[in-house]
Amino acid sequence: EYQKHIRNFSIVAHIDHGKSTIADRILELTDTVSERQMKNQLLDDMPLERQRGITIKLNSVEVKYCAKDGETYFFHLIDTPGHVDFSYEVSRSLVACEGALLIVDASQGVQAQTLANTYLAMDSDLEILPVINKIDLPSADPDMCKDEIEEMLGLDATEAVEVSGKTGKGIPDLLERIVQDIPAPSGDLKAPLKALIFDSKYDDYRGVVLSVRIEDGIVKPGDKIRIMNTGKDFEVTEVGVSSPYPVKKEMLVAGDVGYITANIKSVRETRVGDTITSSCNPTATPLPGYRQIPPMVYSGMYPVDNQKYDDLKEALQKLQLNDAALEFEPETSQALGFGFRCGFLGLLHMDVVQERLEQEFGMQLIMTAPSVDYHAIMNDGSVKLIDNPSDLPDAGEYQDVQEPFVKAEIMVPNDFVGAVMELCQKKHGEFQTMDYLDKFRVNVIYKMPLADIIYDFFDDLKSFTKGYASLDYEIIGYRSTNLVKIDMLLNHEPVDALSFIAHNDEAQTRARQMTSMLKKLIPRQNFEVDVQGAIGAKIISRATIKPYRKDVTWKIHTGDPDRRAKLLEKQRKGKKRMKAIGRVEVPQDAFMAVLKMD
Ligand code: GDP
Ligand code: MG
Repeated sequence: EYQKHIRNFSIVAHIDHGKSTIADRILELTDTVSERQMKNQLLDDMPLERQRGITIKLNSVEVKYCAKDGETYFFHLIDTPGHVDFSYEVSRSLVACEGALLIVDASQGVQAQTLANTYLAMDSDLEILPVINKIDLPSADPDMCKDEIEEMLGLDATEAVEVSGKTGKGIPDLLERIVQDIPAPSGDLKAPLKALIFDSKYDDYRGVVLSVRIEDGIVKPGDKIRIMNTGKDFEVTEVGVSSPYPVKKEMLVAGDVGYITANIKSVRETRVGDTITSSCNPTATPLPGYRQIPPMVYSGMYPVDNQKYDDLKEALQKLQLNDAALEFEPETSQALGFGFRCGFLGLLHMDVVQERLEQEFGMQLIMTAPSVDYHAIMNDGSVKLIDNPSDLPDAGEYQDVQEPFVKAEIMVPNDFVGAVMELCQKKHGEFQTMDYLDKFRVNVIYKMPLADIIYDFFDDLKSFTKGYASLDYEIIGYRSTNLVKIDMLLNHEPVDALSFIAHNDEAQTRARQMTSMLKKLIPRQNFEVDVQGAIGAKIISRATIKPYRKDVTWKIHTGDPDRRAKLLEKQRKGKKRMKAIGRVEVPQDAFMAVLKMD
């Protein structure tokens, strides 16, 4: 009977179309949070999410709704991120649901991630309820939105709900429609326990907290459970739901979405996508779980203080529980010592991992320039994966280097097609096709190197199109493109962490740019520093960083105390992220210089 009153759904959309705001209104209207506790984008509770104003993690909450039929329904709603880098969070959340609210901004219409996320929801066979948001805006055009939803997504939009997350208009209708349109979960209460772990996090007091969707059976405190993929047994200490603060429950039953704790202290005992069952009465087959998605970019991560290597390892393991897309393995650099090669879904993901390690785990890190995964075709025909440019063997040992290519789909208003094409050509793009989506918009498709997309393409695209273009891409294979490795030398010693791979025809320019960037970024030392770029033994660019002169420091000392304090403070702050390479102090910025070249 309870099961008929459950509604599990995700909220999906293109970034900024209003998912988190609509979640706020739902929490408010159902009195899930008091007025005192209410704040904007309440579910974006991670400090980093609040700082950046974006959703990074999926977040599930239980909401009790008294419907017009007089019955009380239990909504388990999952708010999801919209940025491409986090689509893995979206796909995981969808597996825990029967339905999805597809939010479309009435002034923007269907965008790249609207399409991508709709396809994900369709793949999971979810009931999709189109919701047109921001109808309060003067530029809102709900009818055009409906046409686009029908034409581009093939969904029936005649019944789409029109709402404003800002004013709350239409939200009561939306709640009713959720009850009517989204099916209740099915699942056998009497069958052996079968639950999917769709997310997890590490809590210092409770150990690992598992977010689960119960498919079959019941789970309650005291039960013995088994993680099917590792075979490890645990005793359940607590079950409950987030509302949005943890609320204990007596049990979770088939169809529920909630959390389980079981004194799991080691982070290696569970993995997102694993199936939980009962130890005494196990189910025969585990749930299908998730397809692990390969990283798009790699970067080296090193503790500023070499003594902190083990701390960094532990922090990465704990963070991985909460970020299943993060990959890492140990790596050594001659310049930076012991650290980890980490794999990320994109640069935003990389940024987020770095900041979370610093904010949540107190780490101080040096990150090396991101690189895609190259293939070196060796002389014997074997393929060597190169996720770190310094690992590329010497010319002569390999026949060819190949780089990953993507198919990029750019959705853009007519007026900006020219600008987009110009940008794509500049980024080594090959034009494929162009489809008119409707009177105003075009879908432009290019093939181009992943490296060109990952670095600054997104920012350039935004500025070239005044923010009107949206982008989606997928890897389609590897290609030879005439690549060379450029080494950077400081005082004639190659610094492995500064090596990068470039197209041959641009090698000279890139080496020169990198040299002058390093000259700018590396502060003066008390001796002269030579900066050089080289291909193999051939030096192709050079610059010199002059030593600082004695009288500069003397001037600081005699200057007014205010200015002196400021200078010292500035120096101290800069110091934090310095790494000594040989005798040269190199700041974090220098390792990212390769990103700033154009
Ligand atoms: P998300 O990325 O889909 O989670 O989007 P957010 O909920 O964070 O909203 C993005 C921006 O749109 C925020 O600045 C919101 O205040 C704004 N916004 C959301 N819903 C509405 C709406 O109905 N009307 C207006 N005018 N602005 C809205
Ligand atoms: Mg959001």
